Formats: sequence, C-alpha cells, structure tokens
Amino acid sequence: MLAFDIDEKRVVDRFLELVRIDSPSKHEAEVAKHCAKVLGELGFDVRIDGTAERTGCESGNVIGFLPASPSVAGAIALASHMDTVEPGRGIEPIITDGIISSAGDTVLGSDDKSGIASIIEAVQSIIENGAEHPNILVIFTTGEEIGLLGATALELTETERETFAGAPCLVADSDGAPGAITIGAAYHYEFVAEFKGLASHAGVEPDKGRSAIRMASEAISMMRLGGLGELATANIGSIGGGTATNVIPDSCKIEGECRAMTSEEVEAIRDDMQRCMESGAAKFGGSVDAKWKLSYPGMKLERDDELVLKLEGVANDLGLPFSADYSAGGSDANILGSKGFKPITVATGMTNFHATNELIEIEDLRNCARFIMNAIVSL
Ligand SMILES: [Zn+2]
Repeated sequence: MLAFDIDEKRVVDRFLELVRIDSPSKHEAEVAKHCAKVLGELGFDVRIDGTAERTGCESGNVIGFLPASPSVAGAIALASHMDTVEPGRGIEPIITDGIISSAGDTVLGSDDKSGIASIIEAVQSIIENGAEHPNILVIFTTGEEIGLLGATALELTETERETFAGAPCLVADSDGAPGAITIGAAYHYEFVAEFKGLASHAGVEPDKGRSAIRMASEAISMMRLGGLGELATANIGSIGGGTATNVIPDSCKIEGECRAMTSEEVEAIRDDMQRCMESGAAKFGGSVDAKWKLSYPGMKLERDDELVLKLEGVANDLGLPFSADYSAGGSDANILGSKGFKPITVATGMTNFHATNELIEIEDLRNCARFIMNAIVSL
C-alpha cells in the first residue's frame, strides 16, 4: 500500500467540474477535450482516436499513455465512459452532508464521471508523489450508454496493442461501494424477427389468410423465457403487427434478447428461440426472418484468478469491503476483453444511476480513487 493518500478536495472538485460539462451520448466533444487537456498536463501522451465517424459521436475516444518508471515492468489500463444518459443537460451538483446529488431535474452523471474523476486523481497522485508505476493506458470512451459504441470502435496503435496485451484493465463503471469488483459479465444476443403471413378479409375469407400474429404468439408461447439458470435469461421485449380488426394480419414483428455466461450456453438459448420462431411460422403456413446480433461478448475471470486475489489484497489493505461477482449486464468491460485486455469492473459508489435522484457519497469518490491508485502499483 502506498504511503501517501489521494487529495480528497481535488477529486471532488474534479468531479463537480466534469458533471457541469454536458455530455449526453454522442455529444462528448467538450468533455473529451477537457479530459485530453488534463491528461496532457499530467504528462500523458494523449490523442483522440478517429472513431467519431464510425460511431456517430461528436468525438473519438480519449486515449492517454504514460510510460512505466524505468525499473518497473508491466502494464495496466484504466477505463471509464464520458457520455451520460438523459436528462443530463445543465447538471448542477449540490453537496449535502457529504453526499453529492443533482439540484435540478437531471441525472447527476456520476455514471460515469465518478470513474473519470477517480482515475485522474489516482494517476495524478502517483505522478506528483513520484511513485514508481507500470505503463498506464487511460481510455475514456464515447457512446457507452447507447451500445458501447466507442469501446467497440476503439483504435489502438500497434505499440499499444503489444504493450497492453493481456494487461489488467480496470473499468470504473459500476455501482456499489468501492472495493466491490465485477469479474464476469454475460454474452448478450438480440434479434429482430418479422413473421410473414397472408392478408385476407377476416369476416368474408377467414380461411384464405395466414395470420402472422398467430405465428408470433405460437412461437412466443413455445419459448422458455425469463430466468433460465444462473445469469442465463431470455426475453421478448416488443411485439407489433396487423392493421385493422377485419384484416388477417400478414406481418408481425417481435424483438427479443438472451444472455448467458458462456458462448455455448447463450448460443443454445438463441438456437432454441430461433427454432420456436420457425415452427410457429410453419404451423400457420408462413415464414419468419430473424436477424440476430451479438451485442457484446461475455467475459469471465475465476474467483481465484491472480488478478482477483491481488485486488482483494488492495481492498483489504485499504479497509474496504471486498466482493467479486458476476453480472448479467454489459459494459465497456465486455468489449475491452475482446480487444486484448483482461477487464475487471470496479465500483465507484455511484447510486441510483440513470435516475434524477442519482447521488454519490464523497467518501466513496475518495475510496474509489484510493482503490485505483493502489491497484495501479500492485497488479
Ligand atoms: Zn456507466
């Protein structure tokens, strides 16, 4: 454990400054410029990657590299996302009894500016105190909230890919008290399916038509939905079709998804849902066209993985409650795993995120920065 501490006032000020910069998804340009400037002043080699055109976001991802101290080997990546959900414009943070919340009818933006502020504070403290550190890559992404866009498009240089291959990547982007980490997240597939039947007059020629709505409802009734086992789920999220009560509907669209911790398991659920749709369509003489997409891959570390044990040691040294869990939800961590990093999501203390009663305790902001700072020199 490092002998020095982070600067609590500075991390709070940094956080307040960040949430006052509007950055709803796709509109990250101003906050990206701000983050790039701060990292540059700390001595990072900073660039904004060229992904804006592909993601449709105003800015690319901010990527900052700080070379290791001469006597230190190894590398670590630190990631957070710059975009926030709506309502997230004109955020005015207020502090009451050590708790930061939003004064108005907006979210606070601690998802994920608590992560950005903590990461900057952690590296700043290390640099200012002259502590030895490994190669550090800071990644601040765009468009996380609308489909992990920035992380998916992330452009790394050849040197970065080599230097950080297999390196731990702390993704500071989950709720819960600092010290809690997420060591695995599920694979996620989603689909849009269109059932095709034949329209006819429901009263005059009822036997001539082929109802696409009956096909879809037959398919859905055959599906296994809901919780299907540990972190395995399936859901139909929307349905629509038909035009009028006196017309046998020739089209019906459904949308759904499934999740599971292994590719075998998630593909088995996907294939089963697909079979249900095909037999539902066949039963009523129609067809179905289902378009599946892997939204993001899963990632999983074992509870006794060396990296997990080291983070447990960091939490214990700092007196923070440690926990290591798996999640059915996705984040940039899912994508960064497929980019060659070894991602772990760390809790920042963000609470009630995506809601206007969102808040974060100053104590948690401080502990998140301390946890990341000590992890940088311990992994
Ligand atoms: Zn987030």
